[in-house]
Amino acid sequence: MWLAAVAGVALMIASGGLQAASATDGVYAVGRALGIVAAVLMMTQVLLASRAPWVERAIGHDRAIAQHTRVGKVAIILMLLHAVLLTTASGTYDGRDPVSQFLAWPQYGWFMLVAQIALGTFLIVLITSLTAVRLRWPYERWHAVHLLVYVGVAFAVPHQFLEGSTFRTGGLSWWFWAALWTLSIGSFVVYRLIRPLVLLARHDLRVAAVATLPDGSTSVTLEGRDLARLRASAGQFFLWRFLSPGLRTQSHPYSLSAAPGDTLRITVKPSGTGSSAVRSLAPGTRVLIEGPLGVFTHGSRTADHLVLICAGIGVTPVRSMLEGAAPGDRITVIMRARTRDEAPLLDEVEALAAERGADLHVLVGHRGETWGTRETPALIKDFVDDPRGADVYICGPRAWAAAVEADALAAGVPRDSVHREEFGW
Ligand SMILES: Cc1cc2nc3c(=O)[nH]c(=O)nc-3n(C[C@H](O)[C@H](O)[C@H](O)COP(=O)(O)OP(=O)(O)OC[C@H]3O[C@@H](n4cnc5c(N)ncnc54)[C@H](O)[C@@H]3O)c2cc1C
Repeated sequence: MWLAAVAGVALMIASGGLQAASATDGVYAVGRALGIVAAVLMMTQVLLASRAPWVERAIGHDRAIAQHTRVGKVAIILMLLHAVLLTTASGTYDGRDPVSQFLAWPQYGWFMLVAQIALGTFLIVLITSLTAVRLRWPYERWHAVHLLVYVGVAFAVPHQFLEGSTFRTGGLSWWFWAALWTLSIGSFVVYRLIRPLVLLARHDLRVAAVATLPDGSTSVTLEGRDLARLRASAGQFFLWRFLSPGLRTQSHPYSLSAAPGDTLRITVKPSGTGSSAVRSLAPGTRVLIEGPLGVFTHGSRTADHLVLICAGIGVTPVRSMLEGAAPGDRITVIMRARTRDEAPLLDEVEALAAERGADLHVLVGHRGETWGTRETPALIKDFVDDPRGADVYICGPRAWAAAVEADALAAGVPRDSVHREEFGW
């Protein structure tokens, strides 16, 4: 990303974009450079949200989304600075104050009007993505407004090619810019729009069975054609869009709660509208999926001793990894729950642990000083005698998972051997 930004600014300078005979020239040149950097960050934004397999494999989905959140805010702030500096400098050249210059931009051509519209949509997205605002909205409504960002990109791209003096003259810089946007938008179209439809047609994935569990969560088994071609791994998740009334407008991430095979299975705890509606799914309901996603898998292992630690519904990827473990693997499983009745899939984990010869520790009780319970305080060193020879996989509520991770690192588990799956972005 930064290499592309530097290359873009270098092309701007090479095309004579660094005329600084006056302070205004300097402001203008800095404004242009910020526009190029902001555009490269915006390309990266689209790529990070594209679900492109090479992005997913390189950094994993949750980190891609975390980067997407960070880069997005910087990109929009740089774009705002780009607009402010160019409006101020152009106003000075044309004898207007910045506000009059901003209002006069549409007279310079439609590609300036689209730039203003793009900036407006980006600012709406920036403001609604501020944590204080985002958390006040139901996820679906926030996400619907967030999709405006793609309207902004669609308006910003012609502005860059038609108004951007670095690129409008054609040649190397035009092709460089076109290649970057094609990679970014192309990946988005292929993996976010086309691939889910291809998977729907190829696998015809449907709800086969729905079972409500004693703890109140619901297991949904899905069947389809040729599921092996999805190449899903134990521990991974998909984004699921159930094509039934009231649910087809929502896609939610749920981890596989059993190792993938002839069927797929998820287990969902009711926490809001979408997850609560899962229990009323009818067998035969078609399902649109994106994925498989995530690197919380055996493929990320670095050591022999597999330590799986989960709390509450965080058991789902842990249960599937336990089932997907190789015979003879040294496995320790630690489950935390308030009561045994509230622990989803506990019976299955107990049976699998016995089958796999795994050490299973079920910690039930109230919250305590440690990530265990008040009744059974827990420290990694109590369960792992070889911190440098262990992989610690953690899944559960954010604050709890952070406490387990800190304890694992303090116990000497190498950072690359600590793997965390968060059920919230
Ligand atoms: C990688 C991953 C794996 C998950 N696996 C499981 C699982 O196996 N079982 C399980 O019960 N839950 C799982 N979850 C959590 C589950 O996705 C949310 O509980 C569910 O999406 C909530 O939606 P809702 O409409 O019921 O609630 P809402 O009230 O709409 O949302 C509650 C919270 O869930 C989050 N959320 C809602 N919709 C989405 C969405 N489409 N994408 C991302 N976050 C969203 C938001 O942070 C929101 O604040 C997982 C989440 C992630 C990120």
